[in-house]
Amino acid sequence: MGRFNVKNLKNIFSMGPPFLQSIVRSIPLYVNYDLTWQCNLKCKHCYFFSSAMELKCKRTELSDKEFIKVFKYHRNLGTRTAVLTGGEPTLRMEVIKEAIKIFPSVQVVSNGVIKLPRFNGYKQPKYWVSIDGTKETHDKIRGASIFDKVISNIQETNPIVTSTVMTLNYKEIEDIAKIAYNNDAFGLVFLMYTSYPDNPLLLKGNILKKTIKDILKVMREYGDFIFYSKKMLEVYLSKEFVPYCVFKTGQIKSFFPDGKQKFCVMGNSPLLCDNCGCVVPIAAYALFKKFDLSTVDKLRKLFDVT
Ligand code: SF4
Ligand code: SF4
Repeated sequence: MGRFNVKNLKNIFSMGPPFLQSIVRSIPLYVNYDLTWQCNLKCKHCYFFSSAMELKCKRTELSDKEFIKVFKYHRNLGTRTAVLTGGEPTLRMEVIKEAIKIFPSVQVVSNGVIKLPRFNGYKQPKYWVSIDGTKETHDKIRGASIFDKVISNIQETNPIVTSTVMTLNYKEIEDIAKIAYNNDAFGLVFLMYTSYPDNPLLLKGNILKKTIKDILKVMREYGDFIFYSKKMLEVYLSKEFVPYCVFKTGQIKSFFPDGKQKFCVMGNSPLLCDNCGCVVPIAAYALFKKFDLSTVDKLRKLFDVT
């Protein structure tokens, strides 16, 4: 366990006021809103739809006006960052525009199929766009021929590329890094696949070992372009972050499209925790509990743009 000393405190202070507020005043560091149940894809690994199936609820969504009210409520509490997810959040473009007016920082997590707009006259959202492998693998996982469209969106908006690593694409870590780098992404984040126990897409045994080895290799080759530290890999493997997960502590809150709070961004079940690869609690643990300097550096770069 890292030690709580002056140097470590300085490193955390350097992450800026939102981090301190979240610790000292219990203000959510960010709030994650699923804007819609709708999606223009049907991906093989989709955690959103598998977790939503548990709910057996009518898939209602907040209206634009209701979202504005909820956004203002959280902003008034002091939350600075909204992370907009789905389904596919760009199917509720008007709501994205309203979020930009209210929050100083908005991040949109998109599959990159719809052209990602610039909102003239406002601070632009930071986009996160998924790439899951080479053209063939990406399209196979995503269930549609979309790779070229996604790449042109990446070239135009320089988003952070996210890649969900699972048994369908673990051999393509180097390809993914190369694709993101060569197409002007701002950086690359790996999301280790999260699901219910026994899901065949989960990384285990030798496949997991190879994946870790390959991620370490691209971290050496691409340096700061990869937003993942060695400490984060250790934390992911040990699962020591799970009891301290920032969704469980309330430092980050997550909501379904109907406004109901959900267990966490990954879904609505504690059964997911044993196989969690969500980068958010992993990074938070490496930062707040391990005081890991390289994680501080990676996160500072990420938060500089938000
Ligand atoms: S784009 Fe995202 S929300 Fe839509 S099906 Fe794929 S993983 Fe699920
Ligand atoms: S699944 Fe992961 S992100 Fe969700 S509560 Fe469990 S540890 Fe946290």
